[in-house]
Amino acid sequence: MTPECDLKKLDRAYVWHPFTQMREWTDDEILIIERAEDCYLIDTEGRRYIDGVSSLWCNVHGHRKAAIDEAVKTQLGKAAHSTFLGLSNPPAILLAERLIQTAPRGLRRVFYSDSGSEAMEIALKMAYQYWCQKDAKNATSGKKTFVHLELAYHGDTLGAVSVGGIQLFHDVYKPLLFRTHSAPSPYCYRCKFGLDRESCKRECLSELEEIVKKYAHEIAAIVVEPLLQGAAGMIAHPAGYLREVRRIADQYDTLLICDEVATGFGRTGTMFACEHEDVTPDIMAVAKGITGGYLPLAATLAKEKIYEAFLGKYEEFKTFFHGHTYTANPLACAAALANLDLFEKERTLENLRPKIERLSAWLARLRDFSHVGDVRQAGFMAGIELVESKREKTPYPPAQKIGIKVCRLAREQGVILRPLGNVIVLMPPLAIPEIVLEELLEVTERCILNITEDL
Ligand SMILES: *Cc1c(COP(=O)(O)O)cnc(C)c1O
Repeated sequence: MTPECDLKKLDRAYVWHPFTQMREWTDDEILIIERAEDCYLIDTEGRRYIDGVSSLWCNVHGHRKAAIDEAVKTQLGKAAHSTFLGLSNPPAILLAERLIQTAPRGLRRVFYSDSGSEAMEIALKMAYQYWCQKDAKNATSGKKTFVHLELAYHGDTLGAVSVGGIQLFHDVYKPLLFRTHSAPSPYCYRCKFGLDRESCKRECLSELEEIVKKYAHEIAAIVVEPLLQGAAGMIAHPAGYLREVRRIADQYDTLLICDEVATGFGRTGTMFACEHEDVTPDIMAVAKGITGGYLPLAATLAKEKIYEAFLGKYEEFKTFFHGHTYTANPLACAAALANLDLFEKERTLENLRPKIERLSAWLARLRDFSHVGDVRQAGFMAGIELVESKREKTPYPPAQKIGIKVCRLAREQGVILRPLGNVIVLMPPLAIPEIVLEELLEVTERCILNITEDL
């Protein structure tokens, strides 16, 4: 084994980390995870940390889960990979059937890829090409743009960034993006109209409807993260919002794309967030939790009417021109099948219910802290927005790095968290034992208090 100090030196010499200011990536900052088990990450020195954000929101049943380990090993004994372009493989076929059985009723076709960003790129290309091919007279329909929400996050590739709305990540790339329409996000705590929650929802929906109505002729789809905008800072939408977005899409003859990359696979308490509002999107993107957090895999699910618009003679070229080298990788699909089996065998969603309630009760108490401006939750996803002044809702200035400081302190106390600006995110594996959840909440609470009260 290479000693830890040498690994750190090599990391700094050769590696460029995502979403990381490398100048601040010091030896002190680098944490090298060598192993993991259950809900813990273990570093090269043998120190254990609770995985408080599920390894960036994707872990479901914990690490080293025997059933998933076995499924991957068994598949490894057969084939690690063969292409899905012109060939098929058993785990991918069986997984497609399972996904359709599990997904909101009405979705019928599964298109695989490797990451949430790709699943969204595919959703956008699919929606656009659908309108081009729907029927001959629509070939020049001009439905070639999208409506998305302010503060939206759909991934880091350029199509996904085009329908994104987080200035910090997205502004620099603006000259490379395609044109879209942006509708207000029901970020009720910081309601841009200065309204209460219900009125904020109504105003946001009415602006969305106005945009869709005015530009209906050119809008291919409305794109939303259902129930909760994750990367924006865990912005939980008011109840009934998504159902109204579905109505608007139907009324003005445009498609609805739901990005369930973060919310899918039990995160919000139901298998998919759309279920809370009894909505079936026309196209749905899933990724993060699909393999239980094991391997890179994503899928774009579509209604049959979308799929049918791509059928024709070879020489008509209605083919969906998209595919990646590792599309439908059998190891990843085998892990995903084992993940879905575990949801049933271990009654993951049923066992999650009391933990969601525990999380709610704890969050409610945090509301009273002098620097907690807002707490937001959808099932087992939560955000705690820290503010300098509670009355004025003044944010902490970025230079204070308040979120980073809280998470850094938590790390010293054996908990891994990753903030979104001034929002502390909690997103433990769904299978976290209650006793570990208690420890996670305790440490998080202590660190928030320590950092915010000391300033
Ligand atoms: C993480 C995320 C993505 C991007 O997924 P990657 O696998 O990181 O490319 C897209 N949409 C949402 C809502 C996400 O949370």
